[in-house]
Amino acid sequence: MVKFLDLSKQYLEIKKEIDFEISNVMQESSFIGGKRVKKFEDNFSSFLDIPNCISVANGTDALEIALESLKLPKESEVIVPVNSWISSAESVTRTGHKVIFCDVNTDDYLINVEKLKNKISIRTSAIMPVHLFGQMCDMDPIVGLCKERNIKIIEDCAQSHGATYKGRKAGTIGDIACFSFYPGKNLGAYGDAGAIVCNDDKIANQCRMIANHGSLKKHDHQIVGRNSRLDALQASILSVKLKFLDEWTNKRNLLAATYKSLLKDNKDIVLPKINDWSYHAYHLYVIRHEKRDELKEYLMKQGIETGIHYPKIISKTPAYKNFFNEKFSISEFSNKILSLPIGDHLSVEEVEFVCKVINKYK
Ligand SMILES: *Cc1c(COP(=O)(O)O)cnc(C)c1O
Repeated sequence: MVKFLDLSKQYLEIKKEIDFEISNVMQESSFIGGKRVKKFEDNFSSFLDIPNCISVANGTDALEIALESLKLPKESEVIVPVNSWISSAESVTRTGHKVIFCDVNTDDYLINVEKLKNKISIRTSAIMPVHLFGQMCDMDPIVGLCKERNIKIIEDCAQSHGATYKGRKAGTIGDIACFSFYPGKNLGAYGDAGAIVCNDDKIANQCRMIANHGSLKKHDHQIVGRNSRLDALQASILSVKLKFLDEWTNKRNLLAATYKSLLKDNKDIVLPKINDWSYHAYHLYVIRHEKRDELKEYLMKQGIETGIHYPKIISKTPAYKNFFNEKFSISEFSNKILSLPIGDHLSVEEVEFVCKVINKYK
């Protein structure tokens, strides 16, 4: 069986350290806030080399809180790629702004910068580049467009821990950036978890207040906030896992290179485009095939699990039905994309096996 994701295998490899940390947290019984949460925030800040990290309960909250902290004009427009996980749009709607969907490229699946230009209006207050599947968007032109017009950039880095753009890490280019540590992400907790990072201390303080009932110290509620916190158990688990992240990302790159070399001559398969600016985090390895559903079923019969990211672009979901009729070139590919297994749980031999099986498919 070639699994799409196997978190128990990863756990067994780091079990000693994880169990040690978990039992320490249980003995200390200090579950919310405290030194372990602070330690993870410091660790993640150093990993990205950015001054501020605010841990929160999940990646969706990170996006919502980040948007709120920027104090964008009410009902202003925020541009979001139409091909992403729903949170990218949800967070905009939930914070009282208007989502404007932008098409993505049909080769690398990232926000299309030319089309983005046409989506900018006088009401645009922010753009959310999503570094989808682990590859960073073309940030230089996006930063250029935003600087001229005083538009904020919120990076959605939920799939791109450790990815780089021309040597700069995901999360360090925009005004603010959001990470998810959902268990299946490249850096995943054993439950929900997320973080916001930014350079600006004022924005960081604002995020910290929003996430903690409007207060920086106990019983001092400066603004109306909410409760969105990382807990000590998840923080300790994430600190252990963070030490392995670079190694795991390298492994993903090795597996991706194997896919590329063994599938590149297969005329039925469209491989993902990797831009030369990119060090890819390969959260997902997405190929295209005309008969996607048949191929998926055939692979399943051979014991190979695959995924679909995403079955529908956001504008085709009932939640965003107002946008249903807007045309996006990427929607033609929704029934052709297939995510092949990738991750630290797999060996090169297993990926070679997947390729062999795919290449036999007629
Ligand atoms: C996972 C994900 C999120 C949301 O993260 P959660 O921790 O699940 O709330 C946001 N954006 C993208 C692109 C994601 O993949």
